[in-house]
Amino acid sequence: RNIGRLGSLNSENSASSDPKNLRVKLVLLGDSGVGKSCIVLRFVRGQFDPTSKVTVGASFLSQTIALQDSTTVKFEIWDTAGQERYAALAPLYYRGAAVAVVVYDITSPESFSKAQFWVKELQKHGSPDIVMALVGNKADLHENRSVAVQDAVEYAEKNDMFFIETSAKTADNINQLFEEIAKRLPRTPSS
Ligand code: GDP
Repeated sequence: RNIGRLGSLNSENSASSDPKNLRVKLVLLGDSGVGKSCIVLRFVRGQFDPTSKVTVGASFLSQTIALQDSTTVKFEIWDTAGQERYAALAPLYYRGAAVAVVVYDITSPESFSKAQFWVKELQKHGSPDIVMALVGNKADLHENRSVAVQDAVEYAEKNDMFFIETSAKTADNINQLFEEIAKRLPRTPSS
């Protein structure tokens, strides 16, 4: 139920004061290679393009979705913070973030450990009411699964996170991820 499929780079910065039209900053965190860029491209452009990188300096992509109750949520998506070379800047990215999406690759236990590191960072430095999602990406590679669903479910419950497995490749659960996040947002205008 996306409103249009067009994302925009450097979208306008009009502050939203209307509680029916939320505008939220969303940061993506996780090991390099887990599929963060591909998730964003799938959500914003409806494409899977393993060769394309959306991360360009300090710009971001945005996408608006409509909910059942006619609220619209405009996600401003930042996906540079989790990259090793930006680690020192990470607290700058968390600032003002209403949503953090922490991604791992279901075939990589190392990436699941790294996800837990980012969750701790967010608990230390993020906003106390941040909505956090734990995302096990590359669900299409289930034959090579090495992170059990149950482990992720338990970890997410303990840390008050929403958990979902996605595939940016097949589009499985990508829109659902963002819809579930939108439903969990506090219904106050962002600024
Ligand atoms: P990032 O470094 O976290 O932004 O990861 P990328 O989005 O650049 O993806 C890293 C690699 O994983 C690319 O080669 C993608 O083709 C691949 N990839 C991303 N998402 C998926 C997925 O859902 N399934 C599969 N099989 N490969 C994926």
